[in-house]
Amino acid sequence: MSDSGPSEETRAPDARPVVGRLAPSPTGLLHLGNAWAFLLAWLSARSKGGRVLLRMEDLDPQRSRPAFAAAIVDDLHWLGLDWDAGPEGGDAAPGLGPMVQSQRGHIYAGAMARLESAGLTYPCFCSRKELRQLASAPHAGEEGPVAPDPCRSLTAAERQRLFADGRHAALRLRSPDEAVCFSDMFQGPQAFSPEAFGGDFALRRSDGVVAYQLAVAVDDGLMDVTEVVRGRDLLPSTPRQLLVMRFLGLTPPTYAHIPLLLDSEGERLAKRHASLSLAALRAAGARPEAVVGYLGRLAGINPGGRPVRPRELVGRFSPAALPRGDLRVMEEDMARLMSPNDG
Ligand code: GLU
Repeated sequence: MSDSGPSEETRAPDARPVVGRLAPSPTGLLHLGNAWAFLLAWLSARSKGGRVLLRMEDLDPQRSRPAFAAAIVDDLHWLGLDWDAGPEGGDAAPGLGPMVQSQRGHIYAGAMARLESAGLTYPCFCSRKELRQLASAPHAGEEGPVAPDPCRSLTAAERQRLFADGRHAALRLRSPDEAVCFSDMFQGPQAFSPEAFGGDFALRRSDGVVAYQLAVAVDDGLMDVTEVVRGRDLLPSTPRQLLVMRFLGLTPPTYAHIPLLLDSEGERLAKRHASLSLAALRAAGARPEAVVGYLGRLAGINPGGRPVRPRELVGRFSPAALPRGDLRVMEEDMARLMSPNDG
């Protein structure tokens, strides 16, 4: 908590119907760590009789591939997860709009225009190199300098001159100089200072690509998502998403940031762990029930790891059963998953 009057995003229990979401980025194949997070997000919503949305987060044109999006949908079906509205379209999602972020550009543009006209943003002309020099915390990355951005205080005339010179600008949020506080269902009370959440983070990159933070906040708000269950690596994004929602008058969901799956060396599972992609497990003969049974065991709700379908775990799901810390995926577990006699 800071002395400057931290904002408190925690509020009365959400009376809206439960809506959870799965939000993959089609920048690679799903791996076991994604399956873990998506299974828990799905179980959390379904165990409360809630709806589940599948939203394809393909905003980054350099990294997203339609073939990965198709493979992700296929892998999620294979696992036994379902959703009430998703990228396939149809009329399952009246009023929600497309469930594919690359088709929601007009919605994000409208949100940014509202923030801009409320004076809550500014164009930033700094190059990556200049940002790196400004950043006192290297992890702030390209989303924003932690040190005061000189572009924050440019005059209208200076901005016009830079635009007239053909300079491209990112759009940054004028973040308040105070902590953002919220209560994570799993990690407990959180307080992020501006230094910790990245200060005036970017809503749109200088090449025009809409930033993840803006898109996710707008989508979770407009889609009436009531709970976000995702890996704890995304915890530092939450204060940024809460700020965007606050400034746009959107009701935030509750957040549960769950432990991560690690490889046998203790490294977080990532797209480069090709042998732990669901596609590789499938190709090696793993059955979806065995994968879900194993993940259910890790979640503390399927002792012994018996092969199961996700829906068999719905009645057993309990956040209290989840381990507190990250979990290692051991090679012998993988070997068992791929054994044809499993189950
Ligand atoms: N699309 C993001 C990712 O795959 C996750 C977004 C979220 O759950 O908020 O990393």
